[in-house]
Amino acid sequence: MTLPRSGLCLIATVLLTATVARADGDHAPIGEAIKDVPLFDAHIHYKEPAWGPYPVKSVIELMDRNGVAMGLVSSTPDEGTIMLWEYAPNRIVPELRPYHGNAGSGNWTKAPGMEEYLEERLAKYPHEGLGEFHIHNLDPTDRPLLKKVTAMAKARSIPIHVHSGADPVHLLYELEPALTIIWAHAGMSEPADVVEKVMETYPTLYADTSFRENDILKSMAEIDPHWRRILTRFADRLMVGTDTWINAQWGNYSELIALNRQWLSLLPRETAEQIAYKTAEKLFNRKVSMDQIGTK
Ligand SMILES: [Zn+2]
Repeated sequence: MTLPRSGLCLIATVLLTATVARADGDHAPIGEAIKDVPLFDAHIHYKEPAWGPYPVKSVIELMDRNGVAMGLVSSTPDEGTIMLWEYAPNRIVPELRPYHGNAGSGNWTKAPGMEEYLEERLAKYPHEGLGEFHIHNLDPTDRPLLKKVTAMAKARSIPIHVHSGADPVHLLYELEPALTIIWAHAGMSEPADVVEKVMETYPTLYADTSFRENDILKSMAEIDPHWRRILTRFADRLMVGTDTWINAQWGNYSELIALNRQWLSLLPRETAEQIAYKTAEKLFNRKVSMDQIGTK
């Protein structure tokens, strides 16, 4: 077959571009190939209102359809996490959320019997994290319980998953310096310079980037420069997440995953794979791969 001249020019250009990309080594963005990379979703909730419309089987199918090989799950109440984990133990990393009954994000530190509840659930199930819980403001009267919570995490060598600004992260490390923490939403509304500073301060601080997509993406084709620096510097402590805190998030699950793959596609392969699943593999001592899709 004979190619028209313009076709030859196009091929030459493509080859030249490929050569340049190779010469640039790992710095070329992974691009479209991100679709073949398995994801670890580090921020899943399976709360009671989801149990009816999204039975366990449908949750795993949603993960399958989106190349989400595994996820870190915490639920209100904890029974949701256990249901998912019992259904698909090879796909779910369970973590213990304190919220149950009348104890929720605003009052869990003051709920009667909270320490005993946590101890009991930790003894009964193989939870690999404590959280995600909120610390909205620093109340000195919460210190004794938080001290116990950090001690529980340390004794089991499991991370704490906290939704808070920077100050509660400082407090938790003050209470227990040897702690491993996953900072939910990478600080949620903390600006990039604060996030970078806090990540720099604590080498055992990890973060999930759920709800940060619009901070990370300057446009659909470009990553915000400050966030690019954070993603590059701390890739081995960052994970993606969707945060299925309400059923609407389950309804948008595929779109949320696509948005995460969008910003990951703009990163070099090594960085993208690290954040997509390798950080979680190391943190939870698991193997994460596309071979898990379609299995339980
Ligand atoms: Zn959450």
